[in-house]
Amino acid sequence: MSDRLTPELATLLAAAFDGAGGAITPPIVQTSLFAFETYSDFEDRMAGRTKAAIYTRVQNPTVAAFEELMAKAEAGDEAVAFASGMAAVTSTLLAFLKPGDRVACVEHVYPDTFRLMERLLRPFGIDIAYYPPKRFEEDEQLLDGVRLAYLESPSSVVFEPMDLSTVARHARRHGTLSVIDNSWASPVLQRPLSLGIDMVLHSASKYISGHSDTVAGVVVASHDHVARIRDLTLPLLGAKLAPFEAFLLTRGLRTLVPRMKQHEATANLFVERLSKVPQVRRVHSPGKGDAPCLEGRSGLMSIEFDDTVDIPRFCDALRHFRLGVSWGGFESLVLPARVGIAQAGDHNSMRFFGVSPNLVRLNLGLEEAEDLWRDFTDALNSSVTAG
Ligand SMILES: *Cc1c(COP(=O)(O)O)cnc(C)c1O
Repeated sequence: MSDRLTPELATLLAAAFDGAGGAITPPIVQTSLFAFETYSDFEDRMAGRTKAAIYTRVQNPTVAAFEELMAKAEAGDEAVAFASGMAAVTSTLLAFLKPGDRVACVEHVYPDTFRLMERLLRPFGIDIAYYPPKRFEEDEQLLDGVRLAYLESPSSVVFEPMDLSTVARHARRHGTLSVIDNSWASPVLQRPLSLGIDMVLHSASKYISGHSDTVAGVVVASHDHVARIRDLTLPLLGAKLAPFEAFLLTRGLRTLVPRMKQHEATANLFVERLSKVPQVRRVHSPGKGDAPCLEGRSGLMSIEFDDTVDIPRFCDALRHFRLGVSWGGFESLVLPARVGIAQAGDHNSMRFFGVSPNLVRLNLGLEEAEDLWRDFTDALNSSVTAG
């Protein structure tokens, strides 16, 4: 983890709020509308001459407190929060795309983002092509004529990172907007805006919240890009963040740095020991130096077992690791690719991703690392078959 980045971010996120009566957390302003004293105050606000909140669909002080902190965390001008990570993705893409536009999307993108591309955007006349991370880095002409590059680094499921500075440079040269989903790294491990990427978004349901108790999303970008989202998709799609959820996220953010340190320490322990487990074919878990921009390893990784491991039996034998989707909270989780990624329907993302059915995703939580390792090895030992 970067020694330069972390203390600065920790200080920033821990900064006390200056609330009424010395409150050190922001108040939850649970209101739908904000009334005005006079006709002329109201008129000035509606004409855009003042900035007071009008209506919680577009503006709320508790949400604004979270957005401000998030903008600082990602080193951006401004942030805009949403009801979910998918709302952040959809509201960003629809604000900048129109029929006929081309999108270059990273392969192994988050499965619901893939479904958004294929089932909603493509039928609206947007052309989407998928490329491995290396193509974004190495093919300087890839983004020629492309309106928007949609990135994840590392990607979902197989966690392949890319060199974001290089990709940002290619995007700038072609006039392509670059958007990255930075949920895996969080701003602790990677700050894409400082590398030249135009827009960063998060499923704040994961590390930003950190407690598996809320679903939320956020976008951080320049004033101009956020202004476009605030003008178009935030008010018109209306997937705003609720004040209480914003309060939870602000609380989560303040422990982001120590949480990420603990996730990283546990993940490092797992990666080192997994390399000696004979039933493990591959570990997908990028860390510091696997891409120039990546400052460390997060707690979300995947493992490919060989054919001797009975995966249902392994999952059922785990005690600390619960079976479930999502990640980024306290509790460790296991998600077998066979049930978590393959989904019925017209777009079989298991086939799209080419993911091995022997893959399991692990979310390493904040429990004692040695307890987790013992749980993992006990479960593995009880589920190895003759093959
Ligand atoms: C969970 C997730 C999303 C979607 O976020 P929600 O908050 O569940 O809507 C998007 N991208 C990544 C990488 C995710 O893990």
